Amino acid sequence: MIPYARQDINQTDIDAVVAVLRSDFLTQGPVVPAFEKAVADYCGAQHAVAVNSATSALHIACLALGVGKGDIVWTTPITFVASANCALYCGATVDFVDIDPCTYNLSVERLVEKLALAEKVGKLPKVVIAVHLCGQPCDMAGIHALSKQYGFKIIEDAAHAIGGKYKDEPIGNCRYSDITVFSFHPVKIITSGEGGMAVTNDATLAKHMRLLRSHGISSTAVDMQPRPAQEIWNYQQIDLGFNYRMTDLHAALGLSQMRRLDKFVKQRHAIAKRYDQLLSALPVLTPWQQADSYSGYHLYVIRLKLNEINKTQPQIYDALHAAEIIVNVHYIPVYRQPYYEQMGFKAGYCPQAEQYYSEVFSIPMYPGLTVAQQDQVVAAIREAVGA
Ligand SMILES: *Cc1c(COP(=O)(O)O)cnc(C)c1O
Repeated sequence: MIPYARQDINQTDIDAVVAVLRSDFLTQGPVVPAFEKAVADYCGAQHAVAVNSATSALHIACLALGVGKGDIVWTTPITFVASANCALYCGATVDFVDIDPCTYNLSVERLVEKLALAEKVGKLPKVVIAVHLCGQPCDMAGIHALSKQYGFKIIEDAAHAIGGKYKDEPIGNCRYSDITVFSFHPVKIITSGEGGMAVTNDATLAKHMRLLRSHGISSTAVDMQPRPAQEIWNYQQIDLGFNYRMTDLHAALGLSQMRRLDKFVKQRHAIAKRYDQLLSALPVLTPWQQADSYSGYHLYVIRLKLNEINKTQPQIYDALHAAEIIVNVHYIPVYRQPYYEQMGFKAGYCPQAEQYYSEVFSIPMYPGLTVAQQDQVVAAIREAVGA
């Protein structure tokens, strides 16, 4: 069986986790800040806040940007549900901007149109969440220019994109956004088991996110309210936060994986290059790459040219699974999920996203995927599409 994604764990990773197990702190120890510093330094961001998932990071990022009841958040429909759910957690409403048919990311053309309409009816978004699908960066300069014009904030959901570059600079430097969020789930580019991180250049946002990740509790004197001297106030809860902390065990794995990040992304590019060549003879569309960007290549997605194939997308999906090639669909448009349909969204809302959904597969892509396995994947696709 060949999965679409999987982690790469070596002895150094294992030793790093075991060392924490033998140390004084399993959580709230020194390894979490060390991992935060490694990611911040790598990305060229000033602050990093490690949490237990990218979902948690998206939630506290929205809260730190002031998202609440009555606010509107926009994102792309072709993403994991977490990119939209974070707004709902804050009591805000969510809306979706259709994708660009070439990059599969949120379309800046559609964003321009939607903003103009929203301004007329007084329903501008407070935050736009840009998702670097598959690791391919969004048109951040374009989105950033619009944020200045319309006054919205930007979160980059870079769950797929650590190790990638946009205009020759690392994803996560927040040049075009307020906060960037990473995921360290085992299917992603590097893993901490579960885990996520929010990076930012804004000290106030970073401080607020730190507070929110740990119950809204501070033990720093300057943050605390004056209380009678005869009472003990060694901490105060000053906001409503959560327990979204990352443990030192997870951070140790993440920190160890950071040392192989560049190698992982290079290996992903090598696989992508082979796939590009091997698949060029088949009735499928291989991923288009932005010239001034370097993808993290979390996913390698192909689109079926169904008018040249005698089978349906589900038939090909089943055939590949029968051949033990575990392809996946990234993603079902979020608003088509039953929970979202119940909020009033209807099929057909974002036509490009739905077209993409009806043709797409993510095929196996991870550093340990051997050349023989890559060939096996391509052979199975050839067979499944009847080419
Ligand atoms: C995986 C993923 C998330 C959620 O990450 P977790 O760390 O599993 O919470 C969010 N957004 C996107 C685009 C993802 O792929």
